[in-house]
Amino acid sequence: MRTGSMRVAEISLPAIRQNVAHVRDLTGGAVIVVVKADGYGHGASIVAEAALAGGAAMIATADLEEALALREAGIEAPILCWLHGVRVDFADAVAAGIEIGVSHVQQLEALADAARRVGRGATAQLKIDTGLSRNGAAPDEWRTLFTRAAELSREGLVRVRGIFSHLANAGDENDRAQAARFDEAIAMLREAGIDPELQHLAASAATLSSPHLRYNAVRVGIAAYGLSPFADKTSAQLGLVPAMTLRSEIVALRGVPAGTGVSYGFNHVCETATTLALVPMGYADGMPRALNGAGAWVTVAGEPRPIVGRIGMDQFIVDVGPLAGRVGLGEPVVLFGDPELGHPPVEIWAGLMRTINYEIVSGIGPRVLRVAADGSEA
Ligand SMILES: *Cc1c(COP(=O)(O)O)cnc(C)c1O
Repeated sequence: MRTGSMRVAEISLPAIRQNVAHVRDLTGGAVIVVVKADGYGHGASIVAEAALAGGAAMIATADLEEALALREAGIEAPILCWLHGVRVDFADAVAAGIEIGVSHVQQLEALADAARRVGRGATAQLKIDTGLSRNGAAPDEWRTLFTRAAELSREGLVRVRGIFSHLANAGDENDRAQAARFDEAIAMLREAGIDPELQHLAASAATLSSPHLRYNAVRVGIAAYGLSPFADKTSAQLGLVPAMTLRSEIVALRGVPAGTGVSYGFNHVCETATTLALVPMGYADGMPRALNGAGAWVTVAGEPRPIVGRIGMDQFIVDVGPLAGRVGLGEPVVLFGDPELGHPPVEIWAGLMRTINYEIVSGIGPRVLRVAADGSEA
């Protein structure tokens, strides 16, 4: 742990490399690794570098600003971004060679306009809606979009490198219906005169479970971080290694008598005399306040110990009674990590909060230092 950093998200780069290589071996096609929202809370640029080292062909973000930040951080690989504000200016994207996910004709015109101003051809991937009812061109807009894209491509303003869509994860039957619509869109794009080099539909869930949905590229986020997109399968069952270990340390220890109330509101009262440890991590750091009293635990000296009393903005309390005398100030505390190493899996928090592992890791706050681990510790 870096000197003075009492809140650390340790990111295992070997885990990310291995997860991406695993996906590549599994699919055989291009792997696009999604590092939106600061790499799902892991740190976008370190994740992007590790993903490329693991064989990723392309990096993707939601926002253009995220994509440009990666270029500035020295990532030279192809980068795609697909969620744009109404007044977006694509000039910086064209200048930086960022590929733009285009969801409608106005965006396509804005991209062509940027290409004219910058004096350089732009690269687009057409994002189509095949049933998710979210971002992407609706079926009744496809022909107009594709025809215009073909014109701009002939003018040398916009090269169309790919076509993509996103699944609703609403069951096998719906997956197949979306894939059929995706096939129709690809055929229509070819009729319009464009043969898209990259065709991608699957995110992590379909990539791992449905070979028929992999086309020639996949876009994976959560799998690259070593977490399972399925409620009923663990990381290990999928051949993935969780990359984030959330760590802190004991900064105070106190023996207390039976009947001692703990933290705000005294909703926990010690039944017996015990030892309480103070850990400096709170809800401002992405630790849900509602975990309080729900049975969440951390590991201290390799032992599972319960979180007791309300979680504050900056700190919480662990009952370390049975470990008294064995643990001292500075003792490492692991909030979650790889269960294969004895750490609590992040899915415990996600389950208690009735949410998904994605929300927990992407919600880890800015005070938590992201530290890339080279594997010696992970
Ligand atoms: C976030 C996102 C992904 C990655 O999803 P995972 O389930 O994390 O693999 C892929 N495609 C799109 C369009 C996304 O928004």
